[in-house]
Amino acid sequence: MSEHIKTDYLVIGSGAVGMAFVDTLLDEIPDADIVMVDRFAKPGGHWNSAYPFVTLHQPSAFYGVNSRELSQGLRDETGLNKGFGDLATGAEILAYFESVLRQKFLTSGRVRFYPLSNYLGDGVFEHRLSGNKTTATAKKIVDCTHLNTSVPSTHKPNFTIADDVRFMPLNDLPDITNAPKGYTIVGGGKTGIDAILWLLENNISPKSIRWIKSRDAWLINRKHTQPFEDFFEDSIGNQANMFEAIAAATSKADMFDRLEACGYFLRLDPTVRPTMFHGATISEAELTELRRVKDVVRKGRVASIDSDVITFVNGRTEPTLGHVIVDCSASAIKDNVIKPVFDGNVITPQTVRSYQPVFSASMIAWVEANVEGEASKNGLTGVVPLPDDLDAFVRMTAANMMNQALWGQNKPLRTWMRAQRLDGFSKLVSGVKPEETAKVDILNRMKTSAMPAMMKLQSFLN
Ligand SMILES: Cc1cc2nc3c(=O)[nH]c(=O)nc-3n(C[C@H](O)[C@H](O)[C@H](O)COP(=O)(O)OP(=O)(O)OC[C@H]3O[C@@H](n4cnc5c(N)ncnc54)[C@H](O)[C@@H]3O)c2cc1C
Repeated sequence: MSEHIKTDYLVIGSGAVGMAFVDTLLDEIPDADIVMVDRFAKPGGHWNSAYPFVTLHQPSAFYGVNSRELSQGLRDETGLNKGFGDLATGAEILAYFESVLRQKFLTSGRVRFYPLSNYLGDGVFEHRLSGNKTTATAKKIVDCTHLNTSVPSTHKPNFTIADDVRFMPLNDLPDITNAPKGYTIVGGGKTGIDAILWLLENNISPKSIRWIKSRDAWLINRKHTQPFEDFFEDSIGNQANMFEAIAAATSKADMFDRLEACGYFLRLDPTVRPTMFHGATISEAELTELRRVKDVVRKGRVASIDSDVITFVNGRTEPTLGHVIVDCSASAIKDNVIKPVFDGNVITPQTVRSYQPVFSASMIAWVEANVEGEASKNGLTGVVPLPDDLDAFVRMTAANMMNQALWGQNKPLRTWMRAQRLDGFSKLVSGVKPEETAKVDILNRMKTSAMPAMMKLQSFLN
């Protein structure tokens, strides 16, 4: 069976990016008709296949869609995130997106949602169970699949695993009934960190945990991501520290040293210099826990796992020790080609503010609704590359600072941003009163160091 439909916006993907885009578009273009298509049965994207103990890494206060709170401003009162804005669990995120879909999108009468549907291109999508095809004629196509987030349960490791190895994605950890001799975690990123913290929280001795990491990463201190008044010095002060550290740097290596010295970056082991940066965010309490695991193997990338031996790409080996091997090697961030956000009738939401894909999607929808002309639209939505290696950090920070400077010149955008939940920090900054001298001092430090920092980053890029 095949059906033809018409719409203004055909949105592919109902992950966080698609949801945040549509939410703002509905508010900004009151008569827009929207069709959303997704392979999954429910909105929420990769959170549908996440591990049971997954949570956000940054506060819920600025995650989700703009028009609806995800956290009610709650703070955690216990655990390793104590004192900080709460981190929604995967289940909470899914329930939240489902209620946004039902209570706002569908209730508006302007959104049609096609779940379990594979988008095939050229406006055509196919229902995964019935095989029914729908052809949508749309004024604009919005590709919200571009981030291409990879998660352990659906990812294929890039090493071989013999049949008799006890190997599992971290999703399966809570289902273990037959306790293994120990746990070998493969993967040094945030997923590996989550697996280890979960094991420790569940009273597994750190001596039973081995951590294989091909690279060490610079980490972001979660204290600096709190969009609350009482964290002004930590969050905005951290920005000032960062600008000053970059401005004063004499080389890229010196810049990373200074960023660590001023507290912008954390690292697991003070004796091992990180060579990557994926934007993983962590509390100091979590870091202390992780340091209890002493068996950290740094022999490069794994090539194969056999019943008794793990072989690395460089030929070095490590015994399996009868451990269960836990796959945390999926990198949430994949290489993805940067495209213009606005290109003819295609909109490709990408990150226009570092670490904030959902704010970015919402802001791109605002630009679509309020800015005329493709060049002007793209002018405001320069893509901020995703972090990866250390050079990517330089590119990301330079592009991010450039966007912030441009946005500051655009009054309607500035006014919109200040009122947005997903922009936790503009509100904090714009609310500073002249008599709040400590805060004014931080803002002055930022103003003085922003331009020298931008110039320094440019010089590192040349
Ligand atoms: C463990 C973890 C924690 C994170 N914590 C945070 C955090 O605290 N804060 C933060 O800002 N970010 C966080 N992130 C980053 C996170 O990836 C993004 O915030 C966001 O969820 C990405 O959403 P997305 O819509 O781009 O991608 P996805 O969630 O992957 O959604 C893309 C959607 O497109 C659909 N799709 C793809 N191709 C097709 C097709 N051909 N046909 C139909 N449908 C298709 C997929 O089914 C999917 O639903 C975290 C990521 C991970 C993995």
